[in-house]
Amino acid sequence: MAADWQSQIRANPLAPKIQVDALHKGFGALPVIGGVSFAIGDGEFVAIVGPSGCGKSTLMNTIAGFEKPDSGEVRIDGAPMAGPSPRGIVISQHGSVFPWLTVQQNLMFGLNGARHETDPSERAALADHYAAMVGLKGFEAHYPHELSGGMLKRVELARAFIVKPEILYLDEPFSALDALMNLRMRNELMRILEEERHTVLLITHDVDEAIYMADRILVLSPRPTTIQASFEVNLPHPRRLASPEAQDLRDALLKELGL
Ligand code: ADP
Ligand code: MG
Repeated sequence: MAADWQSQIRANPLAPKIQVDALHKGFGALPVIGGVSFAIGDGEFVAIVGPSGCGKSTLMNTIAGFEKPDSGEVRIDGAPMAGPSPRGIVISQHGSVFPWLTVQQNLMFGLNGARHETDPSERAALADHYAAMVGLKGFEAHYPHELSGGMLKRVELARAFIVKPEILYLDEPFSALDALMNLRMRNELMRILEEERHTVLLITHDVDEAIYMADRILVLSPRPTTIQASFEVNLPHPRRLASPEAQDLRDALLKELGL
């Protein structure tokens, strides 16, 4: 009986990459995460939407290992999360490129400790490959202050992808960009994910961004946050946000968000 059950688990192609169990987290007297449980399959793209201040970033930071939960557990590939690692890379709205390094040097820096290439020319070639992948060919020797906001976001993406992370944690990654660049970056991300599949957890307050990219969308309640609703997005890519299916989903999501 027990053996049957175990072989079924092993045979399950959708074994969870990330498992979140009964997560609680507060800051002092402020309860922020009020009991959150869900799983993300290997290669799945899950988006989390929720009102401002409900605890989205806290939830992501806890799942990525930067914050310790008060109770509950996060498991990656079945093993308890032990802290941040190059297996999971976070991209946030704040950005993290080093202003004193060129694009190529920033990308090479990301390689430290994450891959085995030690030959500097090999590392430089790898950096240039990823710069080209995000559309920055020709800008390898530029410094961040010479780049636009959209180009800086591309550096961030390249710096995440170059370490070949198993999980991408995206916390409102494109929210500081103007609307047009935001749309471009969505397409760019979808294109790269077709080349190199990753498990993705995207935090956003932008319902359309979630509908455009995610396989599944979780809606968080106000603080202390719990999962209030979950929607599968069974629409082919590239998605048309103006399609009736996408509009129905948008209406349903906005209703959940009380709008
Ligand atoms: P969201 O990302 O959904 O906007 P956050 O997770 O950033 O929300 O914040 C949720 C709540 O937790 C807010 O009330 C915020 O002030 C509080 N908070 C977040 N981080 C900290 C911290 N390090 N110390 C104290 N309070 C925090
Ligand atoms: Mg946030």
